[in-house]
Amino acid sequence: MPTDTVIVWFRQDLRLADNPALDAARAGERIIPVYIVPAEAEGRDGFLRGGATRWWLHHGLQALDESLREKGSMLVIRRGDPVEVLPRLAAEVAATAVHWNRRLEPAGIATDRRVKQALREEGIAARSFPGNYLHEPWTVLNKQGEPYKVFTPYWRALLAAGIDQPVCPEPERLPAVSEAIASETIESLGLLPRLDWASGFADWWTPGEAGAWDRFEGFLDEVGQYHATRNRLDLDGTSRLSPHLHFGEISPRQIVARVRSEYPHALDDKGPEHFLREVGWREFGANLLFHFPQTETDNLDARFDHLPWRNDPAHIRAWQRGETGIPVVDAAMRALWTTGWMHNRARMIVASFLTKNCLVDWRIGADWFMDTLVDADLPSNTAGWQWVAGTGADAAPYFRIFNPVLQGEKFDPDGAFIRRWVPELAALPDKALFAPWEARPDTLAEAGVRLGETYPEPIVDLKTSRERALEAFQQIKEYER
Ligand code: FAD
Repeated sequence: MPTDTVIVWFRQDLRLADNPALDAARAGERIIPVYIVPAEAEGRDGFLRGGATRWWLHHGLQALDESLREKGSMLVIRRGDPVEVLPRLAAEVAATAVHWNRRLEPAGIATDRRVKQALREEGIAARSFPGNYLHEPWTVLNKQGEPYKVFTPYWRALLAAGIDQPVCPEPERLPAVSEAIASETIESLGLLPRLDWASGFADWWTPGEAGAWDRFEGFLDEVGQYHATRNRLDLDGTSRLSPHLHFGEISPRQIVARVRSEYPHALDDKGPEHFLREVGWREFGANLLFHFPQTETDNLDARFDHLPWRNDPAHIRAWQRGETGIPVVDAAMRALWTTGWMHNRARMIVASFLTKNCLVDWRIGADWFMDTLVDADLPSNTAGWQWVAGTGADAAPYFRIFNPVLQGEKFDPDGAFIRRWVPELAALPDKALFAPWEARPDTLAEAGVRLGETYPEPIVDLKTSRERALEAFQQIKEYER
């Protein structure tokens, strides 16, 4: 007979396998799985910040509830401030403990501290577990006991600490949850965006643990080539696991273990090694945001506080809509709008174009990504934008300004990516596709392209905007970092 009642508080760990908080609650106890949707104003902890992630969460919660029901349990859903909701629920169900897996966003950490205190004041045990990363940031420090700011030594330290971590088993059965416990319905949470913009996401994604594993198993057939295909915009060369990882539908420990089972010498094998290193970048982003929480909003390199950003609203709008007149940028931004996802190479290209060619503050781009990406993840997004803008720790040097024409030619060599997302240019020959403003008038006419009418003129001249950015960066060099 179950003795104690334990609440398992699901957050960014919407899975039953390798879930340490759930695993620790299984010793003959009554388990109440709960998800708490914070009130709108508290959305900064990464749950409810963006429309695309709300779409994902809606379906991810449905999938979690179904999995729990298959095991004999169900998901209890509450709304409000967890600091009030959890002690109240604990009193209702006579719980003696609340378990959760730790998250690392600054606002999430602050909430968890308050929750811990509130529970302890009521005599309820609050137990947190490491579930979302291979190693938590306070465990990977350099010899001086300081956090790493540069990826390569960080990755070496991570490898030295060991990336093979034990994986908790999936429960076979879970104790039943009384129907008498009040729960909101997933539909009542109103997570689906009002616009029908996200309705097409279902063609691309299957939120939930099973969807994550389907995608991962499919990708394992390709991982041997990952090093060669990962930068190609026109190929399906990456795993697309990022939204599943963000919502914890699969854990990095499971990923490492499964790659190792296929490739026992994964770290000596180009494709798998490179893939695991990218999973290491996710850890690195969390490490940066944990140790430097101000970087959510502040430049890590303080010289950039003096940068004269232009923030031209017309440029920002054109970038968001994929109407900049630069084909590879427009293809990437339209793909984002339609699918909720963008290839890493494309993220770098569009972020460089926005922050450097248009001199738009990286925070404006980062906010747009947080709203439109299904994998919107505060640590990875912040690190990605600060890296490209040159404002971060281990950042691209300010003078590295991607040339989107050359990037397109290199990483979309047949133009398939551009033709797919910018169909009004599809009939252009390859040599005109990447920079139509340089094409001969008869070439454009034959392809039915009228610049300024069927497709925009470039919103900036790439050469002069590059020089303008270099000048702006030159001006801030005299300030202190
Ligand atoms: P794969 O290439 O298959 O890599 C496997 C996993 O490793 C990914 O799922 C992801 O979890 C992790 N990963 C790979 N590359 C990176 C990276 N550069 N940084 C951190 N983790 C990485 N990633 C997000 O998950 N959420 C974001 O909001 C996000 N915003 C970004 C913004 C910018 C400007 C840039 C340059 C990068 C951003 N990234 C973000 C990182 C990266 O682009 C995505 O993780 C990657 O494109 C996801 O595709 P994938 O799952 O196919 O990756």
